[in-house]
Amino acid sequence: MSATTDYIGRFAPSPTGPLHMGSLVAAMASYLDAKAHQGTWLLRIEDLDFDRNVAGADQQILQSLQRCGMQWDGEVVWQSQRQHLYEAALGQLADYVYPCACSRKEIADSRLRLGDPASQIYPGTCRHSIPAGKSARAWRLRVPEPEQGVVCFEDRLCGSQSQNLATEVGDFVLKRADGFWAYQLAVVVDDAAQGINHIVRGADLIDSTARQIYLQGLLGLPTPSYLHVPVVTNANGEKLSKQTGALAFDRGDNDLLHEALLPAARFLGLKLSPAVSELHEFWQLATTLWAKKLRIGLQINLVSTLI
Ligand SMILES: [Zn+2]
Repeated sequence: MSATTDYIGRFAPSPTGPLHMGSLVAAMASYLDAKAHQGTWLLRIEDLDFDRNVAGADQQILQSLQRCGMQWDGEVVWQSQRQHLYEAALGQLADYVYPCACSRKEIADSRLRLGDPASQIYPGTCRHSIPAGKSARAWRLRVPEPEQGVVCFEDRLCGSQSQNLATEVGDFVLKRADGFWAYQLAVVVDDAAQGINHIVRGADLIDSTARQIYLQGLLGLPTPSYLHVPVVTNANGEKLSKQTGALAFDRGDNDLLHEALLPAARFLGLKLSPAVSELHEFWQLATTLWAKKLRIGLQINLVSTLI
């Protein structure tokens, strides 16, 4: 299988457990979008949160994708092996980052003092200097003043988006107090290093996109196109995740086509007949339907020869 366009997309799971239906929907959307564009689909394991990684979960994820018939292009990359890249990016951002000595409790206390306990925004305690007698715990990025703080982008599915980094986000962490690299920095560095120009992922990450676009600007990196698909929720309306008790869709010997792939495609609004009986046929039909849904004007008849 070789790509015939310069489209490069990716799926970037965290190895915190086996894939569940929510992660399958995100994987499927990014895979179908890459196939509909006759592009490249890369796989990146986002294993920077060493406290949450589960041993063996990465291999389990790769196997489940293969059992689903979702073959990635090129070599799989692990973020844990790329920390020198994040270090270099932090160095490049030296004019915009500052050390922060605050603990979670101190941040909550200063919000109380400011009369805004519900705010998620960092109160700016260390913006100019660390309080005497304290030492750096985390590294934060200074966001622009409110007048210059608005970041806008066009989501291919959700339409025009805008967020004011100063009033809605605040100075955000690039390197955490526990020494781990923050998601926002790692994802921006890796997407650029891997040449990714189309990001398709769950809508729970739409709120992170403005921060990532701002970082891309500071680092002189191109901004990819974005498409956020709805997230799967459980009966309580919570996003499916290991924390909310989501189960693995791949139990090793179950019928993935009917128990996982067809339901995930239906969730994405693709009306496939339950009579589909083979993986090859499923992906061919789903790719055609995805291209129609997103109005991707390619010669879809070529797709069958590429899968
Ligand atoms: Zn601080």
